[in-house]
Amino acid sequence: MGHKYVCLRCRKCFSAGTDFTKFQDNKICPDCMTPMVLLNEKFKAPSKTDVAQWETVKILVDNGFRFQTLYDPVSGERIRYPRTKTEAEEFIRKYKH
Ligand SMILES: [Zn+2]
Repeated sequence: MGHKYVCLRCRKCFSAGTDFTKFQDNKICPDCMTPMVLLNEKFKAPSKTDVAQWETVKILVDNGFRFQTLYDPVSGERIRYPRTKTEAEEFIRKYKH
């Protein structure tokens, strides 16, 4: 549980705990020394070999989606995050402001 630091290059996920006062942006990955992204606890890391799904994650993060809970502005329902690249592109078109 808790937020996660994710290295999109290594496809690795590290726990960031739940104390938001300790969250850091651009924390460095211990393996490849590039900045990681901080994602919401709702994020479920794909398997390390599932490159396609990691690419989807990267597209979402690049567009400002960090797996925070989102609600559809019309129906008010909670939005499910996309799993494929095609779904992600549609998701971004729909929900990016
Ligand atoms: Zn890394």
